[in-house]
Amino acid sequence: MPLLIDSHCHLHLPPYREDRDAVLDRMRRDDVWAVTVGTSVRLSEEAVAFADKTEGVWATVAYHPEHLTSSYHDEDEGEAGEYSIDEIARVARSSGKIVAIGETGLDFFRFDEGLDPDVAKDRQIHAFRDHISLARELDLPLVIHCRDAMTEVIDILREESKMGGVRGVMHFFTGTWDEAQALLDLGFHLGFTGAITFPIKKTQDSATHIHRVVERMPLDRLLIETDAPWLAPQAHRGDRNEPTYVRFVAEKVAELRGMAFDEVARQTTDNAIRLFGLTT
Ligand SMILES: [Zn+2]
Repeated sequence: MPLLIDSHCHLHLPPYREDRDAVLDRMRRDDVWAVTVGTSVRLSEEAVAFADKTEGVWATVAYHPEHLTSSYHDEDEGEAGEYSIDEIARVARSSGKIVAIGETGLDFFRFDEGLDPDVAKDRQIHAFRDHISLARELDLPLVIHCRDAMTEVIDILREESKMGGVRGVMHFFTGTWDEAQALLDLGFHLGFTGAITFPIKKTQDSATHIHRVVERMPLDRLLIETDAPWLAPQAHRGDRNEPTYVRFVAEKVAELRGMAFDEVARQTTDNAIRLFGLTT
C-alpha cells in the first residue's frame, strides 16, 4: 500500500511528454500512486496504454461532457474527436488496469454559440446515462465531473441508483454541505483538489466554504486528488501540477480536521484502494 494515492490526474497528457520519467521517479520516491483519467476515446486509449506499462498507475475511460457541447479545447488535451459510447465501451474492456468509468457527468458552464442550451443539456444527459449503464455493466465505479449542474447530476444519480450498481466519486467537489450530504447518502465519495489549499477570498463566506465540508464529512469517503497537470496547490500555484503534490491536499485535510497527516494518508489511500479495487 503506498503512502498516498492521487485519485484523479491526467498523467498521459502532452505536458509530461518531455519528463514523464522524472515525474514517475518522484512518485516512486514519495511512494505515490495515481489514477490517470481519460476524457475522449483517443485520450482514454492513451491513458490505458500508459497505465498498462507503468507500475502504480491505473486508468479510467470516458468521454468528457464538456467535449460534447463545446468546441473549446484545452491545448494540453488537443481535439476530442467524435463521441461514441461503443468506442468508449471497447476501450473500457481493453485492460485490467481500468478501474473506473470517467470522467463523465454534466458541464453546463458554456455551450457552443448557436447551440440551443436545451439540446446541449439533453446531449450531455444522454451521454452521462450511457456512461452510467456502462459502469453498471462492467461493475466499475464512476468518476464524475460536474460544473454548474449539481442538481441535475444528483437527480440522475438518484434515479439510476434505484437500478443498483451505481457508485463512485464526485471529483473536484466544490458544492454545498447539502449537496455533499445528498451524494454521501447515495454512497458516493467526494474528491478534493489543491483548490482547498488556496487562501479563502474576502468575497467568500467562511461559514459555507468548502473547508466546512472537508472538516465535517466522514473521512472514509474522502479522496484526495491533484487534477494534474492543472490546478497546482498553493505551494506551487501557477506551475504544472503533478501527482506528488497530492501531499499538499492531504496536509490541508489533516490541518482542517485537526488530525495527524499519517492518519489522513492511511485512510484516503485505503479509500481509493477500496473504491477502485486497486491491487498491491
Ligand atoms: Zn480531470
